[in-house]
Amino acid sequence: MKIAFFGLGHMGGPMAANLLKAGHELSVFDLQPALVDALAAQGAMAVQSPVDAVADADVVISMLPSGKAVASLYLGDKGVLAHIPQGALIIDCSTIDAATAKQVAQAAEASGRRMIDAPVSGGVAGAAAGTLTFICGGSAEDVQRAEPVLLQMGKKVFRAGDHGAGQTAKLCNNMLLAIHMIGTCEALQLGADHGLDPKVLSDIMLASSGRNWSLELYNPWPGVMENVPASRDYAGGFAVNLMNKDLGLALEAALSSGSSTPMGSLAKSLYAVHGSQGHGQLDFSSIQQFFAKRS
Ligand code: NAD
Repeated sequence: MKIAFFGLGHMGGPMAANLLKAGHELSVFDLQPALVDALAAQGAMAVQSPVDAVADADVVISMLPSGKAVASLYLGDKGVLAHIPQGALIIDCSTIDAATAKQVAQAAEASGRRMIDAPVSGGVAGAAAGTLTFICGGSAEDVQRAEPVLLQMGKKVFRAGDHGAGQTAKLCNNMLLAIHMIGTCEALQLGADHGLDPKVLSDIMLASSGRNWSLELYNPWPGVMENVPASRDYAGGFAVNLMNKDLGLALEAALSSGSSTPMGSLAKSLYAVHGSQGHGQLDFSSIQQFFAKRS
């Protein structure tokens, strides 16, 4: 298939690389030329403009940082929507607000094109390994049509409901992720402050009722696990700024439905302080440093 891929960052880069490995023809575009060059070196076609990328595309995929970026890529005078071939399927994998996801999908469908939101879970390691979970919103038919391509970048595809529902489900997940990451950090710090070895404490909690994804697969204490951001000075991974964005979206969603999310609100405040202290580009597990004792 001919696939146009927009956004080649921490997630989009390895996702696009997996589609190349699966034998697809890829046209790639990112605002950062170095990221385009890296994919071109793996066999993708580098294009001069977003419009060039979508010519003849069967599938268009975007993996962008915000709803604003998604709306500006597809909509308006300079948007690519009008240039996407009729019959192509558009898959937005970015994590954005459900309202923008619905707005762009409705514009796509009004112009005779099909679109789904398909935000992902699984992180940078999952993107590289091709083990992501896709959480889709859109018609059952379109999600079914997207599935073969999505399964070349991931292992599971869920349909949460209609347009925007994938985003809502993703925000619920990320709010919970922020909460258990912070809880994991404070428990490890408390143990360490009382002389426990964080690795031993992690093993104990993993075999006990405190077990959770952050502890098991993404341990935030440096050196406890190999190949996680904590063991490389919190570089790479899922940035504090992006977690902050997702928590903001979750709180906006809670406001619109009158839902009570006290733990999510506290997590948002803690991530906002952590980001404002100059840690915005670090991985979100760096919130461990927020609890660290400084002499
Ligand atoms: P990133 O900042 O590394 O990558 C985003 C890329 O989009 C950048 O390279 C940027 O230059 C590019 N970009 C921005 N506007 C563009 C445009 N108009 N056209 C083309 N390219 C454009 O971010 P990331 O970590 O790859 O995250 C991407 C999305 O995936 C976000 O919505 C994030 O919330 C979500 N996500 C990230 C993770 C993670 O672990 N990093 C996990 C799940 C979901």
